[in-house]
Amino acid sequence: MRKRLRSVLGSPEELEGMELLASTPQWRIAFWWAEFSDPETEAGYQRHCQHFTAHQLKLALGTWAVLLLLFAIPDYFALGWGQGFGLLLAMRLGVAVCVLALLRAVRRDPSLAMRGVWTTVVELIGLAGFMLLYVLRPDIAIWTYALTLLMLIMLFVFVPNRLAFALLVAVAGALSTIAMVSLTRPGRGATDLAVLSLVLALPILTGFASAWRVQMLQRQQYALLMASQRSNRLLQQEVEQRRALQEALRIQASIDPLTGLNNRREYEKLFAHEMARARRESRPLSLVMFDLDHFKNVNDEHGHAAGDEVLRTVARLCRENFREVDITGRLGGEEFVVLMPGTSLRDAGEVAFRFLQVLAGTPVPVDGIAISVRATAGVAELMPHEDQLETLLHRADHALYAGKQTGRNRVVLAAPDGQAERFVPRTPLVP
Ligand code: GH3
Ligand code: MG
Ligand code: MG
Repeated sequence: MRKRLRSVLGSPEELEGMELLASTPQWRIAFWWAEFSDPETEAGYQRHCQHFTAHQLKLALGTWAVLLLLFAIPDYFALGWGQGFGLLLAMRLGVAVCVLALLRAVRRDPSLAMRGVWTTVVELIGLAGFMLLYVLRPDIAIWTYALTLLMLIMLFVFVPNRLAFALLVAVAGALSTIAMVSLTRPGRGATDLAVLSLVLALPILTGFASAWRVQMLQRQQYALLMASQRSNRLLQQEVEQRRALQEALRIQASIDPLTGLNNRREYEKLFAHEMARARRESRPLSLVMFDLDHFKNVNDEHGHAAGDEVLRTVARLCRENFREVDITGRLGGEEFVVLMPGTSLRDAGEVAFRFLQVLAGTPVPVDGIAISVRATAGVAELMPHEDQLETLLHRADHALYAGKQTGRNRVVLAAPDGQAERFVPRTPLVP
């Protein structure tokens, strides 16, 4: 089988691809009928080329009907208005009606072209009609033989049909030709009929071989096309998976896993960007650093998991209470930073103060206990000469430390003169 396949295929690449495909049951092609052994694959193939095949069939049927009717003219000149002419005309009209009915049906339902049953039925009807020529037009017997041979080839190469059906019609055509010749020329010997059979076998073999080759190649091309489409899809999926993985890695590399806030590496990058912009646009930029008060007690009293839950809640409150443009990050442990573009020291103090109020007003429920959270914040504003993130962080940290030293649960501003100054709100913090 492999050797026989090789003989119909061309390039080595094609051969290699086909060998690969032929080893998959899905793409195996039944040798004699040149159709996929797997019914689903065959159905897919038929759907794939249905449009083209239906078009070819309509063209063949149209040509057939026209030729059939055109040949009524020589009939008339040979037979006149006699009974023979009437019979032949009736046959021509009858077959033409069948042919045109099939053409119409294929136009409505192109899948008929692929199934081949109705094509075969119409071909058999046409064949039966054609045999009348042997009886009614003995004057052109030699032309009728020639037409028979041509017709046998056309069944394979001009009218699209399934190979097995085309072979069936062709064999029926050859047998009925032999029968008609024996009937209309009873004097013929066995040798004559044997020669006639051989002559009729030739177009059948030629037609079958050509149609077989075409069907085989078309299916192989289809199999290769489907295989390449499949590998393209797989490649596309792989690319998408890689992209998703890259994105996940990027997020993993920039996000603190516990809180989902920016990690140090990420917020330092974003802060540097914002600092450059603030200097470029001469806009204020402030940084709030806050640290949860007595957080160690939360861990000690309620456990580490409860502590984690508190940290997650603080992060959620950060996301909910700061602006989109503010950049929040987890500095480490229970310390957080928020960079506020376009915000002066006082305004940042006000925002930090309100946030500490929200924090104090949002006890964290863990195992039926509400854990209340307080924090101390240090706020610093970028100074005109300041170009290092470190110094800004240091000043905010210094203010935060001062807040811790002076009693916690407060906001302390890092004044430009280096002093730490408590932010005094109009309404006091929740005690
Ligand atoms: P202060 O008011 O002075 O800030 O006191 P504090 O107890 O909050 O500060 P301290 O530095 O003494 O303790 C911080 C605690 O935070 C100790 C450490 O176990 C805890 N901690 C740090 N990171 C995590 C974390 O990811 N999860 C939990 N549950 N606890 C953490
Ligand atoms: Mg703390
Ligand atoms: Mg701390």
